[in-house]
Amino acid sequence: MTKNEQLFARAQATTPGGVNSPVRAFRSVGGAPRFFARGAGAYAWDADGKRYIDYVGSWGPLILGHADPDVVRAVQEAAANGLSFGAPTEAEIELAELLVKLVPSMELVRLVSSGTEATMSAIRLARGFTGRDAIVKFEGCYHGHADSLLVKAGSGMLTFGNPSSSGVPADLAQHTLVLDYNNAQQLRDAFATHGGKIACVIVEAVAGNMNLIAPKPEFLQAMRELCTQHGALLIFDEVMTGFRVGPQSAQGLYGIKPDLSTFGKVIGGGMPLGAFGGRRDIMEKIAPLGPVYQAGTLSGNPLSVAAGLATLRKIQASGFYENLARRTTSLVTGLTAAAKKHGVKFCAQSVGGMFGLYFAATPPASYAEVMTCDKEAFNRFYHAMLEAGIYYAPSAYEAGFVSAVHSDADIVATVAAAEHYFSSL
Ligand code: PMP
Repeated sequence: MTKNEQLFARAQATTPGGVNSPVRAFRSVGGAPRFFARGAGAYAWDADGKRYIDYVGSWGPLILGHADPDVVRAVQEAAANGLSFGAPTEAEIELAELLVKLVPSMELVRLVSSGTEATMSAIRLARGFTGRDAIVKFEGCYHGHADSLLVKAGSGMLTFGNPSSSGVPADLAQHTLVLDYNNAQQLRDAFATHGGKIACVIVEAVAGNMNLIAPKPEFLQAMRELCTQHGALLIFDEVMTGFRVGPQSAQGLYGIKPDLSTFGKVIGGGMPLGAFGGRRDIMEKIAPLGPVYQAGTLSGNPLSVAAGLATLRKIQASGFYENLARRTTSLVTGLTAAAKKHGVKFCAQSVGGMFGLYFAATPPASYAEVMTCDKEAFNRFYHAMLEAGIYYAPSAYEAGFVSAVHSDADIVATVAAAEHYFSSL
């Protein structure tokens, strides 16, 4: 037994499935998860001492790579001055000021401790502000594990959801309308029928929780127009895309101004931190200013804020996003070319520093198309890459992430490993 296997067996005795978040368990790809002991830059080492080029980056936060010296120093300095006060600190103002400056739609922002808290609070706020109960989400988009959001569509249009997680009351799920991603006409039809009841539309402007699906510009544009027309709020869930796809996040990239946005991952630099914010008149409905309640013992805690500030300051460097996008593009074009050379049905694409890998002829544009990708082929590829020291997300339905410290040599090595595998098929 490897050390990873021993740890996995031991973990299962005390933790459900041996993990504290389900995809980590490797159920989808099979085998024992890698238990990580250490990370530095683009690399992470598992319990057996094997080194991987890491394309998960803690599922997105590590845009500067593992243990960035400036981020680590900021956290150490903050820790030495007290771990938490449950009272306001100056650093929280600095982070809020930076977010408001960097995100065009953000007039007021509140800090929370996870992406789930951010989306859950934004949904409650949208309902409180509009006095409506229904929300629209898109099949295959993930917005954290709040009850209203753990709903996906059955087949067919305009289906009011059935709970897709057990434990979600049907009474609650019935308020979640699940539509097809990238289908503007279906959204128009939904508003024509239910417009007066819809509190908000929540969307991943680049979908990253069903592999990666790029938005059709007219889809986002229709969403903005319909929300305005029907008095519903548009929520961009930028937990993954925030400062990942560009310096102003997805809303800057696509030129759409949402009413509310949610953030997580990158803004916490690897520490637990989330945020939601947007239009002043809406955000003023949050307690203590307004009737919508939201709170947190550790919200805005000094360590998370220090890591977030250090990260956000560093990614302001000129050329940061050009470099990140160039590396990510060279990864996906290299992988696609390698597959083509050996006649493997595979393609890849990227947006900023996030990418998708598909065992399909062309990139999918909807959840249904994602489901037609060859999952078994992905799983075989996955284990070959793991063996070669390349760590991708252990599921065919997750986006991947490149950091600023993945070198050209790392990308070349990654493409070479894939090419070696493709040539063996
Ligand atoms: N929204 C999106 C778009 C996400 O990708 C995630 C997490 N992957 C969440 C919300 C939930 O964030 P957290 O896991 O921090 O609760």
